Amino acid sequence: MYSEEKEGIIISDATELFLGPVTKYEPVFSNEKADCVVIKKGKIVTIGETSRILGEYSRSDYEIINCSNKVVCPGFVDSHTHLVFAGDRSHELNLKIQGKSYLEIAKGGGGIMFSVKNTRNSSKEELTNLALQRLDEMLLHGTTTIEAKSGYGLNTSDEIKLLEVMNEVNELHPIDIIPTFLGCHIKPDDYIGNQWEYVESMMQLLPEIKRRNLAEYVDIWTDLGAFTIEESKLFLTEASNQGFKLRVHADELDNVGAALMASEVGAASADHLLHAEAVSASAMAEAGVVANLLPATPFVLMSKKYANYHMFKDAGVTVALSSDFNPNCYILNMQSVIGLACFMMKMLPEEALEASTYGGAKSLNRETELGSIDIEKNADILILDIPNIDSIPYRFGINYTDTVIKNGKIIVRKGKRVDMA
Ligand SMILES: [Zn+2]
Repeated sequence: MYSEEKEGIIISDATELFLGPVTKYEPVFSNEKADCVVIKKGKIVTIGETSRILGEYSRSDYEIINCSNKVVCPGFVDSHTHLVFAGDRSHELNLKIQGKSYLEIAKGGGGIMFSVKNTRNSSKEELTNLALQRLDEMLLHGTTTIEAKSGYGLNTSDEIKLLEVMNEVNELHPIDIIPTFLGCHIKPDDYIGNQWEYVESMMQLLPEIKRRNLAEYVDIWTDLGAFTIEESKLFLTEASNQGFKLRVHADELDNVGAALMASEVGAASADHLLHAEAVSASAMAEAGVVANLLPATPFVLMSKKYANYHMFKDAGVTVALSSDFNPNCYILNMQSVIGLACFMMKMLPEEALEASTYGGAKSLNRETELGSIDIEKNADILILDIPNIDSIPYRFGINYTDTVIKNGKIIVRKGKRVDMA
């Protein structure tokens, strides 16, 4: 039975209801316990205490989901993924464990160029099918919106191919995909010409991407061994002039000033930030740049260095948490990202949950529609089969998704898809 047959959905009796930062919901009476949410026509219309709300709404007109012993929170907004690529790199794990460096693995035919080669050799249909399988996993783990980047084509035709795949997949899957052009991921080994010429070749794609509306954001990796500040600034400024919003892979391997540069060019999000320093955090706070932290990446790189969450928090920067799903970091589960954030960056569970929902939405300039449970926002809601938020990281490595509601429709029920009958 689908909820469409009813007026809407009432989520009642939540043991913990995590609203996130809200501006429109105000308790009706001072000691009201918000444990109930009413959804109508895809939006959140009422929040409050179950007994009051069930007295006001006709029970027969609504599907009532009793959430006792469950956590109710916004759907995860995973705001940094490399969704579309081909080529399995599981074999590299053995090499990493044996102590081989990234460079040694790359010289042996692995690393990013392995993914690029496989991606270039794959048809749009093959890439679409891979992306859909990954999105299915994300959805079953509670993710309702993602950002997805190109960046495994690394030539003009294959970068466009990846953006086309993302846009097509967005039409086919319940998860909303916000596409980003990351032609300047790295300069590919097989590019003939210098790095500036490569940046220019990617810059020449911008008008077509804009005209065909293939990407909302433009991203670049600004770091040691990737693109310089000078190249990045030129590229991002041009992208901004053409109407793109900006993101930056910043200061992951060294503090090259990428986060400062992201603040100067008005990026929405600076990501990774392992080596960013306090001066960058202040600049980001001032410019309203979100710090998008990706703890799964140092984890799979077996690094001891993680981003300094508390530095960003103390500076007043909004923090997002994302998966950084990519061929070298195969994680589709934001609950595990929350676990890593708590254990490795000492985020409190509630802070990590807010960063995985509201933080992600803010980094995608969608915080007025998504990322918190507030009146008039999209009804993208997740019900987890655990009694409290602390259990998300505490009971590490298990999928607790019971129900996923996307735009007011129940897509996952008791951990299973129900929209594909
Ligand atoms: Zn990335």
